[in-house]
Amino acid sequence: MSLPKKLVLLGATGSIGESSLRVIRKHSDKLQLIGISAYQNGEKLAAIAQEFGVQKAHLHQKPAKDLALPFGTKFSSGVQSLLELAAWDEADIVLVAVVGATGLAPTLAALEAGKDVVLANKESLVVGGELVMETAQRTGSQIFPADSEHNAVFQCLHGQPEKSLDSLALTASGGPFRDWPLEDLTKATPQQALHHPNWNMGPKITVDSATMANKGLELIEAKWLFNLPPEKLHVLIHPPSIVHAIVRFKDGCSFAQMSPPSMTFALQNALLFPERHPGVEKGIDLSTRFDLAFFPPEMQRYPCLKLATECLHNGSSAPLVFNAANELAVDAFLANRIGFGRISHIIESTLNLFKHRPYHDLDDLLSLDQEARILAEQEIVQVA
Ligand code: NDP
Ligand code: MG
Repeated sequence: MSLPKKLVLLGATGSIGESSLRVIRKHSDKLQLIGISAYQNGEKLAAIAQEFGVQKAHLHQKPAKDLALPFGTKFSSGVQSLLELAAWDEADIVLVAVVGATGLAPTLAALEAGKDVVLANKESLVVGGELVMETAQRTGSQIFPADSEHNAVFQCLHGQPEKSLDSLALTASGGPFRDWPLEDLTKATPQQALHHPNWNMGPKITVDSATMANKGLELIEAKWLFNLPPEKLHVLIHPPSIVHAIVRFKDGCSFAQMSPPSMTFALQNALLFPERHPGVEKGIDLSTRFDLAFFPPEMQRYPCLKLATECLHNGSSAPLVFNAANELAVDAFLANRIGFGRISHIIESTLNLFKHRPYHDLDDLLSLDQEARILAEQEIVQVA
């Protein structure tokens, strides 16, 4: 029997972190958790460290009170040591499940160190897709997509001849406001936006699903992962969230991947690829009736998706600016500083005001990202 793969999990305390821990518990003979990180939730970090006996645990800042870490777990804090954890030579795989553009630097650090990366953090591809893909190619690291739609495409492509892919569609539930009258959308509250009909996720991606900014970010993520031009990337609303993506090949045949709406399926596939073992949860029941419906999104209901699609076509710094403005606008909405309808306005005005230009390295990207955040915050202050 082969030794378990040694895994570092960045963002262990979040929603993806929790689903990943379920997969690791189920397959403890195949996956060994050796390092974890969180941002501020020291208590949960310590509980995970206790349960899995990890060797390294990282928090953004050193907490005032010592954490209840097990004997033998080394604690670290600060940005530099997060990058060191991502590049730790003990690890075989690094799962990046932190939220936001902050995931870019650790993703690059892991790839640069030659680690295989299981990537949940879509923002790193939106902000620095070219750099991420180039780094993986140069170092020979593999990226296993964990986002359910991209993992679905990845599964459909496995074993197919190279260059046989023609186009693809990512599915979306349409979020909690799919059937609301358009005129009511501006009144949606954070509590209503956080109530997703199918998926249980962290707050930022849940709001992104309500605006469908999430699907826009995913189109950009797909462009980099599967090397397709924008016109070959589609979105279909599929309310039950059972089919996660549909891939069309050059001969006109299509494959789709199906599983219930839980992230454990995509995460297990990405973590244990190419092996298939019993899952944490039951797959779809093939003995009962189930309905599959697909239809294209109404763009006037989802202005964030429309803006993201324009950024996908425009390229340059547009996706990065979209992402930065969206992160700030979502935070402002959740803090009750702006209304739901303002999220797309903040993104649009930030995109219009920004002096778009190309970038060359991580430092360029980080400074463009900072500049976009300053502009977006000014726009938020004006409407708040
Ligand atoms: P959560 O908000 O639930 O968790 C985020 C994790 O990242 C937590 O561990 C958090 O620590 C940590 N974190 C937050 N801010 C920072 C920071 N500035 N620096 C370092 N770590 C930080 O998010 P999700 O698990 O929902 O999402 C994680 C990523 O996965 C996102 O990029 C999302 O788009 C993607 N994704 C999520 C899916 C889902 O089902 N949830 C599906 C597909 C993709 P702490 O708890 O201490 O705050
Ligand atoms: Mg997704």
